[in-house]
Amino acid sequence: MARERLYLFDTTLRDGAQTNGVDFTLNDKLAVAKMLDDLGIDYVEGGYPGANPIDTQLFSEGRKLAASFTAFGMTRRPGRSTSNDPGLAALLEATADAICFVAKSWDYHVRVALETTPDENLASIRDSVRAARGRGREVLLDCEHFFDGYKANAPFALACAKAAYEEGARWIVLCDTNGGALPHEVEKIVGEVVKLIPGDHIGIHAHNDTEQAVANSLAAVRAGARQIQGTLNGLGERCGNANLVSIIPTLKLKPEFAERFEVAVSDTQLKKLAHASRALDEILNRAPNRHAPYVGESAFATKAGIHASAILKEPATYEHVSPETVGNRRKLLVSDQGGKSNVLAELERIGVVVEKSDDRVARLLDEVKQREAAGFAYEAADASFELLARRILEKVPNYFDVEKFDVNVEQRHNALGQRVTVSLAVVKVKVDGESLISAAEGNGPVNALDLALRKDLGKYQGYINGLELTDYRVRILNAGTQAVTRVLIESKDETGERWTTVGVSPNIIEASFQALMDSIVYKLFKSGAPATGAGHR
Ligand SMILES: [Zn+2]
Repeated sequence: MARERLYLFDTTLRDGAQTNGVDFTLNDKLAVAKMLDDLGIDYVEGGYPGANPIDTQLFSEGRKLAASFTAFGMTRRPGRSTSNDPGLAALLEATADAICFVAKSWDYHVRVALETTPDENLASIRDSVRAARGRGREVLLDCEHFFDGYKANAPFALACAKAAYEEGARWIVLCDTNGGALPHEVEKIVGEVVKLIPGDHIGIHAHNDTEQAVANSLAAVRAGARQIQGTLNGLGERCGNANLVSIIPTLKLKPEFAERFEVAVSDTQLKKLAHASRALDEILNRAPNRHAPYVGESAFATKAGIHASAILKEPATYEHVSPETVGNRRKLLVSDQGGKSNVLAELERIGVVVEKSDDRVARLLDEVKQREAAGFAYEAADASFELLARRILEKVPNYFDVEKFDVNVEQRHNALGQRVTVSLAVVKVKVDGESLISAAEGNGPVNALDLALRKDLGKYQGYINGLELTDYRVRILNAGTQAVTRVLIESKDETGERWTTVGVSPNIIEASFQALMDSIVYKLFKSGAPATGAGHR
């Protein structure tokens, strides 16, 4: 049976750009648009030309995407003609394949926010769609507050949708702008709409204010809608938009949808999903959500020993889909609850070949258990685990020695008479028999120590230039009888790889030092840096 086509519309660059703390540059927007195009998204909404300089520039020339590059803007203002509305003119001038208009569909908003009449609102929709069609654009109409509007005054909400459809809009998009609708309501209301307008002209635009934007999108599809709007990682104002990163694999991997519908995203493109999700976080300089469905680092992580041995035998026992399908990987957590099978699976993943019966495996497991009892957390610190394992099972070259370090925190008055706190670190390292001394000031003691450590590592400097700390987390634990500090440091390098290292000590500087050292040594090991002189640690 031929499957019906479902269309995916991404609004990361428009609605997603409303997220608190998100500011896309022009280059960011171009990079994200390219990434969405590579994923096989049908429509990429770039922004709101005329509303700000970046979006105007974005639409000033063709962007050569396979996707329909879409400009967003408002229908003509009430009381004006289409030829006498500068906002509409900027939108019609934009170099775009499609134009997505937003219009009110809740009579309450028409009255209170627009201060106009229902008839003028309908005329504005008709005139704007006609004008854009006249310019040869594909037209979409976002019916703002559609579900709330439908509950308040169904005939008016439907009239707005119908006005656009009759003027030749390709898609009528039903928006849950406030994000308060529930899946059963969406399914019922969309079911009513598709009696008047064919479902293959209906889209859904859901917000996540009850954490059901994904469920609402799927409910709309079940009721007949054939376009889904959403964002990467669920970016968006307040609680975000429907998360395409969860929706796409659900459509492709869950039989209820996969057997009935096809999307433009191929199986090969689906494998790029985890990367796309993390790359967006990279661009936004945000730590990826470890627990993100399908693509999070913990999405296929299993802790307990008996589960781990079952997973190794038959992955389907504890996994709803296979991690490789979305470009993620299975992760068996090394922890005090885990047994030998976890450790063996992790060793296999990092490429250490060892016999199951090898005594060193038992030694490694003992070491992990002892250290975790002391406060280390290897399940969160993959790079520190790898170094520990390689040190016990084979060897990690000795690169450099830190002979001593000194960290000083001083609070004093500056020249303006303000109290300031200044941190200074001095580090003495030995590389190939040569002592190197570096000093650095930082905004805190750990920052100063990090800067001093990485300032001059002699012949290794070239290997760590791309190293960057991206996250620093501190927890105070009660291990045994005393309180200790656990520090987790996340680093990344020029290849985009991220890794986490751990340090534990009653002293926060010492704990940070351990984690910093592991991060640097891991980077040197991974880059194939040569050992210093002779000897192994
Ligand atoms: Zn929205």
